[in-house]
Amino acid sequence: MISHESSSRCHLLFSNCTVVDGTGSPAYIADVAVETGTICGIGDLSGWRADQTVDAQGLVLAPGFIDVHTHDDHAVFTDRSMDCKVSQGVTTVIAGNCGISLAPFTQGESFPAPFPLLGSEQDYRYSSVAEYRRHFDRMPASVNLALLAGHSSLRVSTMLGCLDRSASHAETEAMKVMLDAAFVQGCIGLSTGLDYPPARSAPTEELVELAKIVAGYPGKVFTSHIRNESDQVIEAVEEVLDIGQKGRVPIVISHHKCAGRKNHGRSVETLAAINRRKKQQNIALDVYPYTASSTSLLPQYIREAEKVLVTYSDPHPGFAGWDLEDVATDLNCSIYEAADQLYPAGGIYFQMNESDIARIMSDPACMIGSDGLPGARKPHPRLWGTFPRVLSKYVRDDGVLTLEAAVHKMTGLSAQTFGLQDRGLLKTGYRADLVLFDAAVVRDTATYEQPDLPASGIELVLVNGSPVWRRGEHTGNHPGQFIEG
Ligand SMILES: [Zn+2]
Repeated sequence: MISHESSSRCHLLFSNCTVVDGTGSPAYIADVAVETGTICGIGDLSGWRADQTVDAQGLVLAPGFIDVHTHDDHAVFTDRSMDCKVSQGVTTVIAGNCGISLAPFTQGESFPAPFPLLGSEQDYRYSSVAEYRRHFDRMPASVNLALLAGHSSLRVSTMLGCLDRSASHAETEAMKVMLDAAFVQGCIGLSTGLDYPPARSAPTEELVELAKIVAGYPGKVFTSHIRNESDQVIEAVEEVLDIGQKGRVPIVISHHKCAGRKNHGRSVETLAAINRRKKQQNIALDVYPYTASSTSLLPQYIREAEKVLVTYSDPHPGFAGWDLEDVATDLNCSIYEAADQLYPAGGIYFQMNESDIARIMSDPACMIGSDGLPGARKPHPRLWGTFPRVLSKYVRDDGVLTLEAAVHKMTGLSAQTFGLQDRGLLKTGYRADLVLFDAAVVRDTATYEQPDLPASGIELVLVNGSPVWRRGEHTGNHPGQFIEG
């Protein structure tokens, strides 16, 4: 809403910006004032006095982007500046996805894939969310962080290393107690990774039981890396929607995709199934703007991919960036034996198609999430490029989304879906998480060959009112906060 106020003052004033407010409504020209970490005025503020004024003529000012799908649980401690995110305009990350969260976690007797994606076994040392949060509050990152509790973390903590079975009644009860405590201590939901070894044997009923705990905390969500993203993708979508219906919880389908050549185009079916059920239940989803996925280097994914690149290997770090075929030639073995020798390792898998991505992204309930994996030597470029790539390729070049719709999927829709208060909209009284960018030139520069390059066209990024990124450089500030659900 445009307001006309005179003779007020503020710390920081953006003048003449094109406001894209995160609601999806059309952009408009206004001045925006910030004071003590909060947006305190929007409109014609030409009468205001400010300590500092930014001439934003011709630039877009939007709420800071919310990366709804990250594995940044440990990265926020090891790389507090989080250049890979703030350089894109990301001001909040949601961590703990795909069933693996650094907290709550009590050392189990096994440490299977995909746990190594976040860090080493020693890095999983937060038995409670309160402990994790204390660490974050003591040493905050440049981004805000909200945390999901991971189902696989709960399984490892309660099932004594034996994960290839369903949890017993007592173990399920123990998981429920841990989950309940995680919610009391500020987690925003439960994440699951049903396609991964630690959770593959968990039956639907075990998940419904846990979903019922989620349902006890209105606003919290159940997110899922579903049981299958290729040949059985429809069944896997139906399973998680059933869990949502039986447990009466909002569902978020993570990094939705149809992998494998023969499944290309099946997003028509998955989205139809999702939209049929949206009338009865709350469903959202997220997507990243690339045709290659990335996760642990495992045979199940190698089989489905047309090409595999190695992102890291603990025993053979020199193979990072290599095509797995070339590694196999070099080691004189099959690609599966090569993957075995490289493990713990990560891979990039070329296995999706463009039209599915555009179709999924266009769904009104679809948000943007990077699924970036920050620990890798040669990470998937989505870690540095996701948000600017949506703004350049899918908005400016291909016209899949309007700018307003794209920003909504990065901000307002994300905050609403995950219950983040006072964020995700450019609105008076909301936190001053802001990104100023040039919509005519904003662009990702990260590639598969050179994945760690910052975007161009991101002029200024504010987290809780403090600048963290200014024209290609980090400012050295770490104003991030732990966000409670
Ligand atoms: Zn996942």
